[in-house]
Amino acid sequence: MIVMNMVTPPPDIAAISALQSKLVSALRPILPEHALLWEPEDTIPYECDGLAAYRRMPLAVALPETEAQVTQILKICFDMNIPVVPRGSGTGLSGGAMPISQGLVLSLAKLKKILSIDPFTRTAVVQPGVRNLAISEAVGHLGLYYAPDPSSQIACSIGGNVNENSGGVHCLKYGLTLHNVLRVRGVLMNGEIVEFGSLAPDSPGLDLLAIMMGSEGMLAVVTEVTVKLVAKPKLARVIMASFDDIEKGGNAVAAIIAAGIIPAGLEMMDKATTRAVEEFVHAGYDLDAAAILLCESDGTPEEVAEEIERMTKVLEEAGASGIQISQNESERLKFWSGRKNAFPAAGRLAPDYYCMDGTIPRRHIATLLKRIQGMETKYGLGCLNVFHAGDGNMHPLILFNGSDQEEWHRAEEFGTEILEACVELGGTITGEHGVGIEKINSMCVQFGEGERESFWGVKSAFDPGHLLNPDKAIPTLSRCAEYGRMRISGGKLPHPELERF
Ligand SMILES: Cc1cc2nc3c(=O)[nH]c(=O)nc-3n(C[C@H](O)[C@H](O)[C@H](O)COP(=O)(O)OP(=O)(O)OC[C@H]3O[C@@H](n4cnc5c(N)ncnc54)[C@H](O)[C@@H]3O)c2cc1C
Repeated sequence: MIVMNMVTPPPDIAAISALQSKLVSALRPILPEHALLWEPEDTIPYECDGLAAYRRMPLAVALPETEAQVTQILKICFDMNIPVVPRGSGTGLSGGAMPISQGLVLSLAKLKKILSIDPFTRTAVVQPGVRNLAISEAVGHLGLYYAPDPSSQIACSIGGNVNENSGGVHCLKYGLTLHNVLRVRGVLMNGEIVEFGSLAPDSPGLDLLAIMMGSEGMLAVVTEVTVKLVAKPKLARVIMASFDDIEKGGNAVAAIIAAGIIPAGLEMMDKATTRAVEEFVHAGYDLDAAAILLCESDGTPEEVAEEIERMTKVLEEAGASGIQISQNESERLKFWSGRKNAFPAAGRLAPDYYCMDGTIPRRHIATLLKRIQGMETKYGLGCLNVFHAGDGNMHPLILFNGSDQEEWHRAEEFGTEILEACVELGGTITGEHGVGIEKINSMCVQFGEGERESFWGVKSAFDPGHLLNPDKAIPTLSRCAEYGRMRISGGKLPHPELERF
């Protein structure tokens, strides 16, 4: 595994150690012994999130068990001017929960109670450390579930989901986290408690609940979330359609939506992916197809029958070379098994893979896939494409060998070029994994100075001292200026006469 050391001045070890002692002494009286970690062997599991290429050790890690402790911790750090990085389950893929060397990691993992479930209003109030899937498990006996379903749902926390505005296969029909959360309670950096949203469908004042969604731990520490629950559909069936040409597959996605159909899931895999996954899931994928589309329908048996018929017609008209429809639940799960196992399959093809996350208008899916093919040749690296086609949310998985620094840099440049292509095609540099530290430079490409200043304005209104998860998601002016100077365009560095350090 490779480690990217973030560019920081050489650390003053004595000063850091003195600061650590001061912080630990201040936090000790308010936390039980097991809830405060500072020895390297205890804090090392927190040095990164799911983006393991980027790592940093924190001063300490606090694991509070109550909101009152969260408040006290924040007040102490506020008074000591120490940055705080909130953390859920650490499954984030953009480095959002990566520590700050002279900061505290505030883990919310121990706040994991489901506080109430109300089948009448179809809502549940949960603490931030509750796992996404645990909510559905807790309400399953009522015929209900929590709809947003990131593939990491077995592990990721609802606090993390709120802060990344996470999505999943079923979000095309049921909405992202944003559409499934009614209320959020949290604590500001100065220890003040805030609540946004309400149990009613709307709430007075500015829509600050929406601002909290995807705020990447930079505005407030979330301590309670009220989620919507939806009724479990009676039936679900999936169509597996093959295409001999990527372009036809991409156009079929746009055609389904244009026909006024919102499938319960609309996912695409390219040939390289189906070949990689078929080897161990044996789902019966068409290995000669350039692309495979999985289109799910759910609802009452009558609704499903009607929607499957309509989707089949659209897919045939779009030039599908083969169509199979799941005949029972086990076959439906078999068709999905490859999609669900695509990431582990990538892990079998190369020592490392780099999962990108950009979004484009659906009509440009084929264009981007073709450009990625060209980039594979340019960078000499393979790439699997498996993605939420209905949302235009692409997840190219770049294959590389992390023990080779040069290869990792090539993979990074490959990834940056994909994101910049997303922007060029009218899309965005992130779909559901956030900006974190990974895509902070690409923010300079996506947004102009004025827009970035506005983002800083929002950040400053919540956290004037910039202590909550600083150096993530919003680039500074000087960072963008530096990135602009260093950015390679058309294979040429700007100002090649300048000496580079
Ligand atoms: C195999 C795999 C598959 C994945 N699939 C998907 C997918 O399908 N869809 C998707 O959207 N994502 C996916 N992800 C990414 C990740 O799981 C999500 O971003 C998830 O929401 C992160 O939750 P977490 O609890 O792990 O948060 P963390 O990684 O711990 O933190 C994420 C961000 O939220 C902040 N944060 C966490 N908790 C709080 C809190 N209580 N208060 C304030 N800030 C907080 C952190 O500071 C950080 O910025 C996947 C990840 C993996 C490893």
